[in-house]
Amino acid sequence: MHCPFCRNPDTKVIDSRSTDDGGAIRRRRSCPECGKRFTTQENVLLMVAKRSGVTEPFSREKIIAGVRRACQGRPVDEDALAKLGQRVEEALRAAGAAEVPSHEVGLAILGPLGELDEVAYLRFASVYRSFESLDDFAKEIESLRTAGSSGEPGPSR
Ligand SMILES: [Zn+2]
Repeated sequence: MHCPFCRNPDTKVIDSRSTDDGGAIRRRRSCPECGKRFTTQENVLLMVAKRSGVTEPFSREKIIAGVRRACQGRPVDEDALAKLGQRVEEALRAAGAAEVPSHEVGLAILGPLGELDEVAYLRFASVYRSFESLDDFAKEIESLRTAGSSGEPGPSR
């Protein structure tokens, strides 16, 4: 790994340790050229398995871009989108698998999106669940109403 300060291609590892949760390794490195120190982290890449069988690294940016499309014209700001992306990633990583099927990524988005904006949720769900008729929408809206009537929405995160 090259030095991020002077681009010297050779750096030395001076310390390696597991993070507290054991999910990653951090390495302290020093550059023999400029003497600066920096830290790198090694973790398991969370992979998403698409229906085609192709896997690709999980991308929070992709999640946010998809949700942003569903939120067009809705009162949802970038900050809320960023938080949603973080929640989705945390939920998927908490499950502890190195690879998740793409439909589980969709499911992980639906929960927090439903709390954020019901219209955006319906748009996203219609694509994700491939709604085919007005009945599908009606059922989904009914279930949103039922969920909403069980109490006040929680504090927004
Ligand atoms: Zn350097």
